[in-house]
Amino acid sequence: MSCASEKHEGGCLCGAIRYRFDGPIESVAHCHCRSCRRSSGAVLMTWFTVPRDNFAWIRGRPSRFASSAGVQRAFCATCGTELTYTNETARDTIDVTVGSLDCAAAHPADRHIWTDDKLDWLRLDDSLPAHRGWSTQD
Ligand SMILES: [Zn+2]
Ligand SMILES: [Zn+2]
Repeated sequence: MSCASEKHEGGCLCGAIRYRFDGPIESVAHCHCRSCRRSSGAVLMTWFTVPRDNFAWIRGRPSRFASSAGVQRAFCATCGTELTYTNETARDTIDVTVGSLDCAAAHPADRHIWTDDKLDWLRLDDSLPAHRGWSTQD
């Protein structure tokens, strides 16, 4: 499968859980919020957003954690890889971690979000747009 195609697959570190979706990846954001930081153990998380109808689990099923009201983070219960984020306020879309994508190298981030929560010592030397909250807000 070519990284240039519009069929995408990804999965967790141990391989127990795999997903697939069809369609382009057009929205990729570095998120600096506290929930992403603590849930991943990393200083930021990078997500792409796709229509939920195009997304399917093809091996295994993830465990879920409600990190805020109406929010579900799905992860592999065996190896811990965080895979998706869903929010009741955005029922048509699902956010997926770029780091779990087989072709992560082909899908660079296009913006930063929740930079009010960003760690001060983390230097952003790219020229991407930065938003204090969701990119739709400011
Ligand atoms: Zn796993
Ligand atoms: Zn976040």
